[in-house]
Amino acid sequence: MNDARTPALAFCNDVDYGTWKAYVEVHGILRELGIAAEDSVFLYAPAGSELALFRDSVERKGPRHEELLEEIRSGRISVLHGAGEFSASETPVRPTRRMVAEALEYLDRTARVPSIWTNHGDEGNLSNIGGAAPTYHEGDRPDSDAYILDLLVQAGVRYFWADHHASNDFVFAWPGGGAAPASASAGRRARGGAPPPLVVEEGTRAGLRIRCFRRFRGPLPRAPDAETLAWQLAGERLDRLLEKGGVSVLYQHWYVRRDPSGRPVGGRHPALPDATVAALRRLAELARTGTLRVVGLSELLG
Ligand SMILES: [Zn+2]
Repeated sequence: MNDARTPALAFCNDVDYGTWKAYVEVHGILRELGIAAEDSVFLYAPAGSELALFRDSVERKGPRHEELLEEIRSGRISVLHGAGEFSASETPVRPTRRMVAEALEYLDRTARVPSIWTNHGDEGNLSNIGGAAPTYHEGDRPDSDAYILDLLVQAGVRYFWADHHASNDFVFAWPGGGAAPASASAGRRARGGAPPPLVVEEGTRAGLRIRCFRRFRGPLPRAPDAETLAWQLAGERLDRLLEKGGVSVLYQHWYVRRDPSGRPVGGRHPALPDATVAALRRLAELARTGTLRVVGLSELLG
C-alpha cells in the first residue's frame, strides 16, 4: 500500500536561526527515521547566516556556500526562503531586483534554481510576494526596485507561499484535484466535508497568475518551532488526515528554540527536544506501516 493516493504529509521548513551544525543534526535524525524532508535556503543574509548562500552580493559567499550548493543540486534543498534574511530587526540592507537577478543567474549556472518560494520575516523583506493580499510586499509590484516575481517565474519557481497562506487546517485536498482514495473511511470523510485545496491560483499586481500552496501553522501564539512541532504532529491530527485522505504540509522553523521570554534562538544542541523526536518516531512508524506517506515537498506539489 504505497500508491500515490495514500494520505501524505510533507514538511516545509523555514531556515530562520539555522546553523550548518543544526542542519546536519536535524536531517541526520530525519534520515535515520526514514522521514523524507526537504529544506529551504536564504539567498542572502547581509548580517550573516550559515544557511545563506551569500552575504550582500554574489561576490561575498556565505561560510557554507559549497555545502548549500550541493544540497540544492541534490534536491535536498528545494525552497527559496524569500530573497534571504532582510528583516528590519536584523539588517538595514533591503533586497533589490538586481541582487536577486544575480543570485538566480548564479544558481542556474552552478546548481539549479529551487522550484518553490516561501516569504520570510518582517516588512524589511520587501521582495516578499503579496499575491492576492498585498500590504508591504513589493516582490510582485512591478514599479518597485524590489520587484522580482517575473525573474522567479522565468528562473523556474513554480509554487509560492505568501504570508496569508498560513492555515489552521491540517488536512488539504490533493494538488491537481485527484479523486480521494476509496476506503472504508469514505463515509466519515463525506460527513466531515471536503478538505480545502492545498494549491490555489492567485492573481498578482504584476498581472502574472501564480500557484500558491498552504501550510498548516495552527493557532499557536508564535510561529511554529522545534518545540511546537510535537504539538503540530499530535495523534488526533494524524488520525484526521488518515480518515479524510488528502495531504498535509507543515509550516515549521525547526532550527528555532525559544528563550524564557519567547524570543527565537538558534544553535541549541540537541537541536530537537525529546518530545519532538518522539513525535517524529510515531510519524515514522505510520510511514513504515504504509498508512501514511511522508514525502518531499517538491514531490507532493509535483
Ligand atoms: Zn523565515
